[in-house]
Amino acid sequence: MSFRLRVFLLTLVVAVVATGATAWFSLRITAQQIERSQQEATRHVADIAETARTYARRHGTWAGISRRVETLAAANKQRIRLVNLDGQVIVDSDNLARRAARPVVSPATLVNPRPTLTLDPKELTKIGAKVDALVLNELADYRRTVVNARCLTDVGVEPPPVTPDQYGIPLPAGGGALPGDCTAQADDAQQYAREGDYSATRTCTTAPDHIACLVQVFGDRAATFAPEPLQLYLGAVDDDAVTLLARPMMAAVGAVLVLAVIGTALVARYMSRPLRSLTAASRRLADGHLDTRVTTTGRDEVGELSRSFNRMAAALEGAELAQRRLLAGVAHELRTPMSNVLGYLEALQDGVVPPSRELFGSLHEEVQLQRRILDDLQDLTLAEAGHLAYRRTDFDLAELVEVSRVAHLAVAEHGGVRLTAEAAGPLPVHGDQDRLRQVLGNLVTNALRYTDPGGSVVLRAYPLHGRAIAEVRDTGCGIAPQDLPHVFHRFWRADPARDRETGGSGLGLTIARQIVLDHAGTIEVTSTLGEGSTFRVTFPIVGP
Ligand code: ADP
Repeated sequence: MSFRLRVFLLTLVVAVVATGATAWFSLRITAQQIERSQQEATRHVADIAETARTYARRHGTWAGISRRVETLAAANKQRIRLVNLDGQVIVDSDNLARRAARPVVSPATLVNPRPTLTLDPKELTKIGAKVDALVLNELADYRRTVVNARCLTDVGVEPPPVTPDQYGIPLPAGGGALPGDCTAQADDAQQYAREGDYSATRTCTTAPDHIACLVQVFGDRAATFAPEPLQLYLGAVDDDAVTLLARPMMAAVGAVLVLAVIGTALVARYMSRPLRSLTAASRRLADGHLDTRVTTTGRDEVGELSRSFNRMAAALEGAELAQRRLLAGVAHELRTPMSNVLGYLEALQDGVVPPSRELFGSLHEEVQLQRRILDDLQDLTLAEAGHLAYRRTDFDLAELVEVSRVAHLAVAEHGGVRLTAEAAGPLPVHGDQDRLRQVLGNLVTNALRYTDPGGSVVLRAYPLHGRAIAEVRDTGCGIAPQDLPHVFHRFWRADPARDRETGGSGLGLTIARQIVLDHAGTIEVTSTLGEGSTFRVTFPIVGP
């Protein structure tokens, strides 16, 4: 899985968990809040209903209940809502407080201030036919009490408290001294309704259940003037509606924040672990520990980075090793001619050998070899660093092969080797003519050097599959199969002692290979020990 995808998925997991936690916390805290409100409502609903009912009975009206509701709502920190049976709102504490209505949490509770007349059958047998008169009296007293109380409430006077009499009708204790104005109004109302009351009770004369009929008549007549029954609803408990939602939200946001911070920190830690080990490895590498490697896991970008790091470290280690080998090789190569020169010079100094023409000639050759090694080393270093300057032109490779043959004819004749060329030109190539002559020269020199007198060296130039081929074939000593892979290595010689004697630096083929590669060419060798070798270089042919 790619690094980017992993980061994406892990962040997604953190986001989903955080969102889930928010939802869970919000739901849980809101549910707790509502449950608390419901418990509060259950505890208070009976008290509040009784307070409202007492108010309506004492005042004969619901008018003015709002102040009482306000006080109660403030005391309980709860919404109180009174609605009549037609659904009309009589009072709502949240409306009064001009705030957003909190949700209702209790079922409706009926608040009925109207009394039910309670007639004791035993009592009634004692009074006999006077029961109608008793009902009329109770009705009259109740009407007068209600109208009087309503009137007093209207004029701003607190009516006297009422208590149910022996028939359950709320009346002022001891009859109650009523202020003059309202007494008159109460009497008027009673006067006005008396006839109706009487007619109503008369309908019960023939009723099968006389008492039940009278109780019904009382209720119906009272309904015409007594305060109506209301439904009481209680709402959520809280200081305000915003806090009701804000608290769960705040808690949820806090939880999400904590979760997100912890989650992101864990993700960051998990993600940065391989980067941290890479940083530590880079430091070790920079401190010279070239064998430092990191463990590579996964196929993602970080895994790829780790593999690249290991490749880079391996390349650095390889380069350092090569440099050390080169230095060791150079030291080794220079030591032999230097020792020879030193030995002869000491012998001359000590008078052990007499100075002679041959001796100076030999010393001169040794120094020349050192000089050649140093020149070749410089060429090789420049070529490998890509700093060898090439003056590229288009020229004919076949012609160059012919030129090389002519240049080496004298040496070939001197060595008794037949040197011929088969060049099928023109073979136009693009490159540095001098450097490629150097390559061919090196191949021809080697071929002549390792071919005994009587042998032959053939140079060929021909096109093949769109490439120009230059070939140097000899009938020399050949190269053993196990040695073939080493011929292009620095300072490699099949027979170090003999080859040094022939004046070779052991760098010729290494330089030749680098120059050929720099010309987008290839160089290869096939050889049979004791029969001869063929070195073949190829270059791209340039278009007409
Ligand atoms: P040198 O300058 O010593 O010849 P080279 O890099 O040119 O170095 O060659 C490396 C070695 O490859 C030689 O020392 C020799 O052993 C072997 N070699 C190169 N060319 C031939 C050849 N034509 N026949 C046999 N051996 C060869």
